[in-house]
Amino acid sequence: MNNTEKTMEKIVALCKGRGFIFPGSEIYGGLANTWDYGPLGTRLKNNVKDAWRKKFIQERHNSFEVDADILMHPRVWEASGHVASFSDPLLDCKECKLRFRADNLIDDFDPDAHADGMTKEEMFEYIKAHSIPCPHCGKHNFTGIREFNLMFATHRGVTEDNKNVIYLRPENAQGEYVNYPSVLRSMRAKLPFSIGQIGKAFRNEIVARQFIFRMREFEQMEMQFFVRPGEELKWFSTWKEWRLKWHKALGLGDEKYRYHDHEKLAHYANAATDIEFQMPFGFKEVEGIHSRTNFDLSQHEKFSGKNIKYFDPELGESYVPYVIETSIGVDRMFLSVLCSAYEEQKLDNGETRVVLHLPAALAPVKCAVMPLVRKDGLPEKAREIVNDLKFDFSTHYDEKDSIGKRYRRQDAIGTPYCITVDHQTLEDNTVTLRHRDSMEQTRVNVADLHRLIHDNVSLNSLLRKLA
Ligand code: ATP
Repeated sequence: MNNTEKTMEKIVALCKGRGFIFPGSEIYGGLANTWDYGPLGTRLKNNVKDAWRKKFIQERHNSFEVDADILMHPRVWEASGHVASFSDPLLDCKECKLRFRADNLIDDFDPDAHADGMTKEEMFEYIKAHSIPCPHCGKHNFTGIREFNLMFATHRGVTEDNKNVIYLRPENAQGEYVNYPSVLRSMRAKLPFSIGQIGKAFRNEIVARQFIFRMREFEQMEMQFFVRPGEELKWFSTWKEWRLKWHKALGLGDEKYRYHDHEKLAHYANAATDIEFQMPFGFKEVEGIHSRTNFDLSQHEKFSGKNIKYFDPELGESYVPYVIETSIGVDRMFLSVLCSAYEEQKLDNGETRVVLHLPAALAPVKCAVMPLVRKDGLPEKAREIVNDLKFDFSTHYDEKDSIGKRYRRQDAIGTPYCITVDHQTLEDNTVTLRHRDSMEQTRVNVADLHRLIHDNVSLNSLLRKLA
């Protein structure tokens, strides 16, 4: 097992053991590559979503959030082009019969090859020329490449015929586009303005893998920014910058990010880039930014027969707006947070502690309150402190095992602060405040706890850098 696999295995084990993520349907033996977020994972994921929502919905002028249905009219996916061409290049190993994505085989073989810029034929030639082996059996004996549509289809109502086929949405974007006229009208919006959405998307990925990196059911945070025709490339550059700044503000390490500008563009785009994050298995896409032209809105105008042009009062003319899309995977973002936070730290006393250096604003538990011993009125005092802090912070109470073990438990889930109540607390109302990363302990007054914690765990402490 190489180091990357070891790191990933440890992160998966920590997630399972500490309540972040569990294998899906586990008591039935699991359903391959499905994952359920546990109590701490759900909180961490919500904090990631809040960081996005706060910056790009709450703090922005003219930015509106929607929550569209996952099931949409089947014509939506004909208009968007997904029925005809939302597919991945698939090939089979003739020896072990396993199925792979040709572009993934190439990118894993050489991360700088950028298979996304190659045609199907070019990928086939590349795999042949470099004798890329099957990742499972090591042989080089593949079928040709064919396209595999990634949409999950199901049936609406009781009859399972073609007329009733309906799709689970493979991207959030169309929910924002079909609601564009309603948002424009009801919110009396003026260009440029944006519609954002956080929601599930479904893709029947040929190979779901790398834990929550590639799933068949995942969540996206998307923003469609509607602009005047001709201004889209200027806004594309601006959004590229804004989005990277947001990522960096979260504090996972500036050097772990890079752009990957697309050479080969999707049929609907006139510029595209990915923001990649350095995962243990290499730089990988966490967010896609596309200048989607007016393709989608024009298609919906054509397919629905409704006029969805915007009347621009300053220019005195009507047009179909152009769109800049930013789309980030919540699960991939979650994985980048975990991967950058995980550390096995050798201590001076020879012990090893597992610690998650989570950005405090994203940590699922902000503070843990612990009585030093389970007697002499210390548990009661500790509960009193919990009852005060819990209204503003997610707070744990822990009285089991030695204080050292309790600190380790909190380190492993990334709790930024531990508050220990001891006999002195009963005399002068002070406690020890332990900082997760430095392990430093300071004596502070109970009355100051709220301020001290709040200053570091609020989302503002991260996002104010972007103001
Ligand atoms: P990839 O090339 O990795 O398949 P993509 O370019 O198809 O991704 P987009 O369509 O741009 O992805 O989707 C926007 C974001 O949604 C991605 O940057 C990623 O974070 C997330 N995403 C896409 N597919 C998956 C998936 N199968 N599992 C988890 N997240 C995903």
